[in-house]
Amino acid sequence: MGMQDFRGLGLGAGGGSGGGGNRWRMQELAKHEHFDWAIFRRALRAFVPYWPYTIIVTIVILASSFGGVLPAWLTQRIIDEGIQKKHMSLIVEYTLMLITISIGTGLLGVLQTWLSNLIAQNVMADYRIALFRHLQRQSIGFFASRQAGDLVSRVTNDVTAIQSVVTTTLVGFVSNLLNITATLFLMFSMNWRLAILAVIVVPGFVIPTQRVGKSRQKLQGQIQSYLSKMTVQLSESLGVSGALLIRIFNRQGAEEKEFAESNSTLRDLQVRQALIGRWLFMWLNMFSSIGPALLWMYGGWLVLHDEIGLGTIVAFTALLSRLYGPLSQLAQLHVSILSSVALFRRIFSIMDEEPEVKDGKETIPDNRVEGSIRLEKVSFSYQSGNEEEEEGQSPAIRWALRDIELTIKPGETVALVGPSGAGKTTLLNLIPRFSDPTNGHMYLDGMDTQSLTLHALREQMGLVPQDPFFFHDTVMSNLRLAKESATVEEIEAACQAAQIHDTIMSLPEGYNTVVGERGYRLSGGERQRLAIARVLLQGPAIVLLDEATSALDTVIERKIQDALAVLLEGRTALVIAHRLSTILKADKIVVMEKGRIAAIGTHSELVESDPLYKELYETQFHIEDELKQQQIHEKP
Ligand code: ADP
Ligand code: MG
Repeated sequence: MGMQDFRGLGLGAGGGSGGGGNRWRMQELAKHEHFDWAIFRRALRAFVPYWPYTIIVTIVILASSFGGVLPAWLTQRIIDEGIQKKHMSLIVEYTLMLITISIGTGLLGVLQTWLSNLIAQNVMADYRIALFRHLQRQSIGFFASRQAGDLVSRVTNDVTAIQSVVTTTLVGFVSNLLNITATLFLMFSMNWRLAILAVIVVPGFVIPTQRVGKSRQKLQGQIQSYLSKMTVQLSESLGVSGALLIRIFNRQGAEEKEFAESNSTLRDLQVRQALIGRWLFMWLNMFSSIGPALLWMYGGWLVLHDEIGLGTIVAFTALLSRLYGPLSQLAQLHVSILSSVALFRRIFSIMDEEPEVKDGKETIPDNRVEGSIRLEKVSFSYQSGNEEEEEGQSPAIRWALRDIELTIKPGETVALVGPSGAGKTTLLNLIPRFSDPTNGHMYLDGMDTQSLTLHALREQMGLVPQDPFFFHDTVMSNLRLAKESATVEEIEAACQAAQIHDTIMSLPEGYNTVVGERGYRLSGGERQRLAIARVLLQGPAIVLLDEATSALDTVIERKIQDALAVLLEGRTALVIAHRLSTILKADKIVVMEKGRIAAIGTHSELVESDPLYKELYETQFHIEDELKQQQIHEKP
């Protein structure tokens, strides 16, 4: 995890990717956040499709702002015109208006809540789908260098926070501004001297509100980072693989300690945050009683000198709260605007991540290929992405693959062998363009694979990874991933051919047994055969296979061989071979060493001529017991 943190820091706020448990980065983000028009404008763009709602909301807010100050004006009328001058009819008239207005503003409030939530939820839904779509287009390397928990948190938590951007920040900004305008307008039109007195007190709470807002924002940033740190820890330690790792190294205690530390820091931060709010509240309370006191004093003097009626003072005291409330909210609002900007910055930083592998345009005529593959001077380095800027003075690039020249004819089976770390998996992953070569070109039937659409390219190839993955779903659904329209007969036929049908039938619910992450656990050999069945169902022209390294007993070995025989029949195949039977059946064997092709030939040629192959054969393949070899040779 240390590496990840470092990487996140290196990218800084501009890149904005990296670990979610990155405390420093989040703090930096909150501290250095400034108002960024570009981000703000871009964020607003999401609201464009909902402009009719936006206009209605604005009108509603406008109406309720003016509706909000009218009672104060009516109160003044009731006291000065009705009560003082003893006009009962006026009193009744104004009181009825008072009631009507309060019903009206209440209804407007409901309408406003409904509309602003409608806008917020729509915008959120748009962002969620945009992010999800964008993440689907990212290459495998993107996910390899990130924590899933952090990405999950961006798509869920960050997007959810948009709700408050709309309902608190935007609506708050507009409605407070309009409330203040309406209030000031009424105050100045009733009595400008009292109005000035009311305004004089304003700095008394605007300034502390801003101060508190800033430290509150800082705390909020810290709290958010601890929350995401805990989410990452939870998702890592509660996943099966993470849980296994923690137990095998007896790390439960240490994990608990780490969790407890984040937990207690979080608790303290939350308490502090709550207290900051309370102190401010006390201060504001004090100030909001100073205002009316001054008002009564000066207003009383004005009444005694017959400058104003008593109703004006009463109306003013009512208006004061409509001035101070919105003002202090507005003073705090810049904080939520800044955190909204930070929020959108986080969302946009993911959206701006260009997919490493760019989609091509060409399709394959009739979706049919012969299945020839050619690699021309292909080199690949894993460091290609992030450190691009410093390429000038960077140390020599570590090549995972170097100048690979390889031609595979249609229907040929090519076995890749070589010591661990030689680049076999890397090479295999280049064929379906999980990554693109740093240099060089690849061709499928003479077509540059980068010019093809990824969909067309990948349709032609099936992959059996070393440790096949299955979704937490039924066997049937996992198989249908390969071909949605597959009939039950087709699926069963594929499983028969892959020697897995009987095993599936023996599962508690047959093809409807839930497998995968938390489902029924299949053994390594079973997973591999199920993956083979999946590729058989897909029926591609090209098969990419990363053989499992684990030794298998004779019966299983036999089953896998039979399954493989069906799989490779009539298809072009590139196989990372770990078993003697596979290399013996291959048309040619490619020996890899340190990212280069060391030799190409058949088994008998290579045993003679290539010392590395001879060594591999003796250490890796030859140890398979004589019995197995016997069986292989017996096979027709
Ligand atoms: P093999 O499959 O032959 O064992 P790999 O293709 O997995 O070898 O790895 C080739 C080299 O690339 C190794 O040096 C390995 O450390 C490096 N490598 C593999 N995956 C990554 C990755 N995601 N990021 C950086 N380096 C990697
Ligand atoms: Mg490998």
